[in-house]
Amino acid sequence: MNLKLKIVFKITACLVCCLGFNAYGQTVNPSKPMEVYLLIGQSNMAGRGTVDTQSQITSDAVLMLDKTNNWVPAKDPVHFDKPVAGVGPAISFAQAMLKDKKNTQIGLIPCAWGGSPIKVWQPGAKYFENFPYDEAIQRAKIAMQKGVLKGILWHQGESDNDPKRAEAYLEKLKTLVTNLRRDLNAPSLPFVAGEIGYFNKENYINAIINKLPAEVENAAVVSAKDLTDRGDHLHFDASSARELGKRYAAAMKKMEQKSSKESKKPTVVLTFDDAEISHYNNVAPLLSKYGYNATFFVCEFPIKNPGEEKEFMNWNQIRELHKKGFEIGNHTGHHKNLTKLSPDDIKKEVSYIEEKCKEFGIPKPISLAYPGNRNDSISQRVLKEMGYQFARAGDAKYYKVNEDLKLAIPSYTVISSDKYKTRTMKALQDLKGDDVLVLTFHGVPDILHPDYSTSIDFLKEILQYLKENNFRVIEMRNL
Ligand SMILES: [Zn+2]
Repeated sequence: MNLKLKIVFKITACLVCCLGFNAYGQTVNPSKPMEVYLLIGQSNMAGRGTVDTQSQITSDAVLMLDKTNNWVPAKDPVHFDKPVAGVGPAISFAQAMLKDKKNTQIGLIPCAWGGSPIKVWQPGAKYFENFPYDEAIQRAKIAMQKGVLKGILWHQGESDNDPKRAEAYLEKLKTLVTNLRRDLNAPSLPFVAGEIGYFNKENYINAIINKLPAEVENAAVVSAKDLTDRGDHLHFDASSARELGKRYAAAMKKMEQKSSKESKKPTVVLTFDDAEISHYNNVAPLLSKYGYNATFFVCEFPIKNPGEEKEFMNWNQIRELHKKGFEIGNHTGHHKNLTKLSPDDIKKEVSYIEEKCKEFGIPKPISLAYPGNRNDSISQRVLKEMGYQFARAGDAKYYKVNEDLKLAIPSYTVISSDKYKTRTMKALQDLKGDDVLVLTFHGVPDILHPDYSTSIDFLKEILQYLKENNFRVIEMRNL
């Protein structure tokens, strides 16, 4: 292309984008919800089955995000990683997902790369001319502008199918799931991995892939048993790729049913304020014993007297909580009353914690608790601008998900005096429907502020009550 033509082409392309006109602009039906799925891995996810007459059948309800990030009716090859891309599991997966969902569209986000080993599926990693992980995140985010991300399909392992690589595989796969969920802001997003074909001459990787569901929540593995290859002992033939897609759909549906059952349970959010040392010493081990997650709202609490520092966590201990899987939320730098600060000063206090998190390898918080629960429309606006999704206030009320502001979520403060004990247990007993009960704790126990102290025994009593009554216990970022 000569330079002049190139410029004309670029201008035209820009115009097309800016005006929102493209050849397929009408593909997404705005009156139907679209559920989108990210497809990643290597060649068998990309599809290497021979394209046949069945591949010509398209449906208005199954779309794919093409190479240029436009939604088009889905058709094999769904992927474009190599000219040999053919029939993969994607279309039969989408068709099976649609079976009991009449009024839904399925959007496929093809992002698999033939031959890619798991080591290139991490942030910043390059594979030939591409960045598989980064591009998958970018394309998923584009897809999420039109649809709701419902899950990830992963088929990969052939390139890591030897004794040495297989040994390191599980940790890499777990890290991949963690990274994806973090970067897509979907902490419990279903993840379905597939076994590699039994026709591979040697198989070290399936036993490892099958360990995933025991190690990672909301993960499943689909079997490749009885599936056949196209004669190369490596790639599924078209009919097996389609069967594999149906198996992915069955696993995904099972997880969706489980999560819809889960979401009907009464929900409690446990939050712990002020980065007290008792959170590290007493609370985190107790929560882990019960298998519950929680949000720790951290700040650098002003020290009034020498020796008080030992009552608070240091940043290494806060990082440990993050590594154990707990959410680290922002409680502002120095626990100042935000309603008395200028917008610039609010920003400074909030960014202080973000910078500390960055320094210690903790993700940027998306939840915040107002110091003393004090907030107003200005502090809410600043938080919104800074990208916060949830902010906790007080008020001793349930959080009504469809009515209350997400940046002023009410909560009940827990203290183990008789009066507060009665109030807490009543709030737990009366919790119904879609209401969410957010509990705010300080030290367990709280040495410096005895008026706000909760005894270890009372926390145990609450956790026991939650367990016995089958509550759903989540951290704030999962609201
Ligand atoms: Zn506080």
